[in-house]
Amino acid sequence: MQHPWPDDLLAIPHRRDVPFSRLTTLGVGGVCRWLFEPETEAQAAAFVKACAREGLPWRVLGGGSNLVVLGDVDIPVVRLKLPREVVRRGLEVSAPASFGHIRLSTEVAAMGLSGLEYASGIPGSVGGALHMNAGAYGREMVDVLARFRFLTPAGDLVEKSPEPGEFSYRWSFLGDRHLALGLVVRLVEGDPARINALVEEYRGRRGTSQPLDRRNAGCIFKNPTGQSAGRLIDQAGLKGFRVGQAEVSPEHGNFLVNLGGATATEFRDLMTLVREKVREIHGIDLQPEVEIW
Ligand SMILES: Cc1cc2nc3c(=O)[nH]c(=O)nc-3n(C[C@H](O)[C@H](O)[C@H](O)COP(=O)(O)OP(=O)(O)OC[C@H]3O[C@@H](n4cnc5c(N)ncnc54)[C@H](O)[C@@H]3O)c2cc1C
Repeated sequence: MQHPWPDDLLAIPHRRDVPFSRLTTLGVGGVCRWLFEPETEAQAAAFVKACAREGLPWRVLGGGSNLVVLGDVDIPVVRLKLPREVVRRGLEVSAPASFGHIRLSTEVAAMGLSGLEYASGIPGSVGGALHMNAGAYGREMVDVLARFRFLTPAGDLVEKSPEPGEFSYRWSFLGDRHLALGLVVRLVEGDPARINALVEEYRGRRGTSQPLDRRNAGCIFKNPTGQSAGRLIDQAGLKGFRVGQAEVSPEHGNFLVNLGGATATEFRDLMTLVREKVREIHGIDLQPEVEIW
């Protein structure tokens, strides 16, 4: 059968026509036509280099917990499946980008290391957390980041420490076509009982404030400086508002949830409506925190 990609790309493990309902936490969107799943860093580099050589655009998918996919994606999508190896050296712990962020938080807590408690309820991969500079409760990834490894758009490997200007609120310089491969976090010795108490407190807070029984992508909009997007949405009277099966959660205004079988169009329309209403009432233009594909 004719296919559009070069042979060296097709030598990398891949699957075809995978629905985004299986690849994202929100569960909307069409089909991922080409999902490449490198199992080694060498395969990841081969993927990026082949795409660079052919001038092919591509995207990287982590745990799909910060994504709203609006349709089919025809360009190659890469999702790392690196060996799940976490290594501790003193106060530093390294993990591959495809490792679970919550799992890393749990593992370092079990080692008696403190610093990643904030991540105990943030789903997705370590690579996605690096890209998004994910955070909660006043802490974020860059606070514990010692070093990270990534492939440039040309496929060259870079390993470095974070520098000023490279990470800010839910943003990093790792824009499109930088593929994070792994990172090292630097933590501090902690009292296991206190670490676990903090983790439990954070989990408890999420359990009472977030609609975790519905499919969602976390907070949909960024908090404007000094404001809470959820409160602005609530004050606009939008909690519980629905477009089809897409709903502004009655529990948390900044969570837009999939009640079951929501379509990408319903989600896009609900997001547009929320933005328009908040602009009309508060004069504030909410910016998406989620990535939109
Ligand atoms: C219930 C719930 C609660 C949440 N709570 C929080 C929270 O408290 N704080 C918070 O910050 N976020 C939160 N989120 C959002 C989300 O979990 C984070 O943004 C997470 O870090 C995204 O990681 P991911 O692997 O799922 O990335 P994806 O959603 O797969 O991708 C997000 C972006 O990262 C890029 N990316 C993914 N992997 C890589 C890689 N290896 N290299 C380069 N780029 C990559 C993607 O291309 C995309 O642009 C929440 C989400 C849910 C569903």
